[in-house]
Amino acid sequence: GRTVAVFTSGGDSQGMNSAVRSVVRMGIYLGCRVYFINEGYQGMVDGGEHIAEATWNSVSDIIQKGGTIIGSARCADFREREGRKKAAYNLISRGITNLVCIGGDGSLTGANTFRKDWPGLLEELIKDGTISQELADQHPNIQIVGLVGSIDNDFCGTDMTIGTDTALQRIIEAVDAVVSTAQSHQRAFVVEVMGRHCGYLALVAALASEADFCFIPEWPPPSNWRDILCQKLSVMRGEGQRLNIIIVAEGAIDRDGTAISADMSPFWVTCKEGGHPSAFDRILGCRMGAEAVLALMEMTPESEPCVISIDGNSMVRVPLMQCVERTQAVQKAMNEKDWETAVRLRGRS
Ligand code: ATP
Repeated sequence: GRTVAVFTSGGDSQGMNSAVRSVVRMGIYLGCRVYFINEGYQGMVDGGEHIAEATWNSVSDIIQKGGTIIGSARCADFREREGRKKAAYNLISRGITNLVCIGGDGSLTGANTFRKDWPGLLEELIKDGTISQELADQHPNIQIVGLVGSIDNDFCGTDMTIGTDTALQRIIEAVDAVVSTAQSHQRAFVVEVMGRHCGYLALVAALASEADFCFIPEWPPPSNWRDILCQKLSVMRGEGQRLNIIIVAEGAIDRDGTAISADMSPFWVTCKEGGHPSAFDRILGCRMGAEAVLALMEMTPESEPCVISIDGNSMVRVPLMQCVERTQAVQKAMNEKDWETAVRLRGRS
């Protein structure tokens, strides 16, 4: 059997534990040795007890937990070649050359860089006398499969990312909680949700909570939006509506680039999107984790990294760098206020 390691990196999201559990159990089922790398790339660079063998039972009782039990981190060392060299040593000395990386576009970019560097890193390790030529020859490259954990659903190439559905649940709960108060007192509530470049959470939450208005980064209103909004609200009040819900993505701006949030402080509610993973995110993590191991089993040192994505209701493998590049192109277009390009790139094609 092969040796597989799984790690979580970047911001945590709900359902990552389910994915970790699934990687471990599918790996063991197929006769692999499976390792956890704790604390993301930092654990890979530091080695030692951060890299520990997983057992069937070590992933019991985690599927219902939020966040990630194997820890996540942001790691400056891994951005440097020296850090990646230490990581390469820590993996090859344990015979690990199959990686499941669960994280956002940054983490997946790092994984791709690592794979490109691998042969050169081994040459340096041989030159330093740290590893033997024979060991290097056994592991000419690493195989990488990425799973996307992100609550924003901001990654191109998958219909849903692990954690998005749970975030939506939390938003809906928060909206439902303020609705009764709002109705009693004839109020408008503004609910801010996450999404710096991506309005998915705000838009879908607005549909699911019967919101009256929704502000998303991809569709900035004209700068006199306050007047339009107030006028519409007063018409609604005149017609007897007692409650208004306004949902704002944190990155929403007007056409002049001013943050929408800057002007809407009264009745402001900011959502916390964590907590227990939803059934959907548990199943998504479970399916993606299993597919990740199956994909690794078919890969050779020549295979390009892939991401497991959900397309309709199917698990599919898509080239990792293609997805990352498109995701970054969307972010660039958003930064340049080229909303049309961003939306076009994000769509299926
Ligand atoms: P989130 O969506 O939560 O931001 P992310 O995976 O995009 O998740 P980042 O902070 O961008 O989060 O990246 C996580 C870690 O991945 C970094 O701390 C770094 O260790 C590694 N990483 C990111 N980009 C690169 C890169 N270009 N080269 C090497 N390593 C990288």
